[in-house]
Order: sequence, then C-alpha cells, then structure tokens
Amino acid sequence: MNALLYDLLHSGPVLTDGAWGTELQAHGLASDDFPDAWNLTHPDQVTAVARAYVEAGSRVILTNTFGANRLRLAGHGLAEQVAEINRRGVELSRAAAQGRAAVFASIGPTGKMILSGDTTPDELRAAFEEQALALAAAKPDAIVVETMSDLEEAKAALAAAQTTRLPVVVCMVFDSGKDKDRTMMGATPEQVCQELNTAGADVIGANCGVGIEAYVPVCRRLRASTDRPIWIKPNAGLPSVEGGKVVYRTTAAEFAAHVPALVEAGANFIGGCCGTNPEFIRAAQRTLQSLRGQT
Ligand SMILES: [Zn+2]
Repeated sequence: MNALLYDLLHSGPVLTDGAWGTELQAHGLASDDFPDAWNLTHPDQVTAVARAYVEAGSRVILTNTFGANRLRLAGHGLAEQVAEINRRGVELSRAAAQGRAAVFASIGPTGKMILSGDTTPDELRAAFEEQALALAAAKPDAIVVETMSDLEEAKAALAAAQTTRLPVVVCMVFDSGKDKDRTMMGATPEQVCQELNTAGADVIGANCGVGIEAYVPVCRRLRASTDRPIWIKPNAGLPSVEGGKVVYRTTAAEFAAHVPALVEAGANFIGGCCGTNPEFIRAAQRTLQSLRGQT
C-alpha cells in the first residue's frame, strides 16, 4: 500500500469530508453559478467550507475542483482557466487543512457520455489528463475520481490521474436497478471492483447514491471483491423539492447511526456526499470515537 494511505489507515477508519456543492450553496453560491469558478472569485468562502470540515474532524478533505475539466468549463466560458482553477482549488484546501488533514484533489465526470456519442474515450482522457496535471502541479496528497456512473469514463480518469504518480481513489455511484446496487450503466459492485483492481486504482469505493443505509451492503460487496482500501461517501438520502428548495431527508444523527454498520462492512474511508455538512462529520466523528473506545 502507498505510504500515505498506510499512515492514514493504520489506526482504523478515516473520516473524510462531507458535501461541497450544497455547502457552497449555503455560503451563497446560486444554483446557476459554477462552483469551481469560486476558487478564483470567492476564495474565502471556499476556504471556509474546507476549514469547517477540518474543524469537524475530517482527516481527509477534498478540493473544489469536481467540475474543473475542460469539457465542463467550456460550457461556462472558462476553458482557458483549467490550470488556474485546479491549482487554486488545491491551494485553498491545503491552506485550510493547516497540516491537520490530507488534501485529496477531486475529479468528477465531464457530463458527456461515450455511449451516446457525445464524446470519445480519447477526448475524455485528454480532458482528465489536463486536469490531473494541473492539480498535481499544486501537490495534493492524492486524487479522487468521484461520482462516476460509467466505468469507461472512470477508467479514463484513473489512467489520466495515474500519470501524476499520486495515489488514486476511484468511486462510483450505485443508485440503479431494483435494489439500488448498480451503477446507472448496470455495473455491480463486483464488476466495478474487478475492473478497477485490474486498472490499478489504489482505493475503490462508492459515493452519492441513495443514502447511507443502501451503501452498507454495497460496501460489504466491494470489500469482498478487493483487498484495496474502501472509500464510502453516501449522500443524505434522495433529495426532494419543497417550496422550491432542495431538501435532504437524512439528519446528521441518522447518518451517524449507520456509521458502525459501514465500519463493520469494511469501509476504510468514511464521509458524506450531497446534503451532508460539517454537522454530519462531527456526528460521525463521535460515533467513530465511541467505536474505538469499545475495542
Ligand atoms: Zn453527491
């Protein structure tokens, strides 16, 4: 195992951060603003989100670079700022971490699909490689390829991230099929593990999805299919719209109540996705502490 991952994991499950998009919205990001552009225009608010997670107990925080690939930035007139947005994203998280948390740089999907002919594996690979190199220039501790629905896109991002020689986490969204245990393209946890093992991901996992409870069996199946560390960041349940506002139903306490089951199922990195916030991380931290107290 990579030395950094070993250092993080040798004393038990590691708490990561919670959501960024919904937290930036809480700091004033409008629903039609592009979050990653805030690295340049609102760096203080971005830092505030990162710092809140560090103070809540996150030992790994991500970066506000989820959508900072050329294909997505181009849609917002920001294609020429790929390097700057990614570099600033790492710098802002690093400043907020103050040595108390590792910085894992986020790479999300491009929004274009190979299957529908929107893009090609080569175009994806080039966009991800440009982003990965821009992130690596600012020296994050690792790269996280996250919220992927298509294994082909995930593998293109993984291959691009591997060119940096940083450790790479790859996590997919399992929210489809009758048991909500498949990716949108129909891949099972076992298939995902097999492909990502072969492709050389350092950490394999699941994020977003349909809430924490559904990720317990998914985690167990990932654990049974790989010897790599497992990364789990569920959302706060499926959102609903009430009075024009997006509402997530799971509370921090309910979320934390499922953390022991995730640990039991073999999760090594635990955090939250959409709708979670520093309160969720604090609650999960208390739960992990009491689990440690029992052993
Ligand atoms: Zn999410």
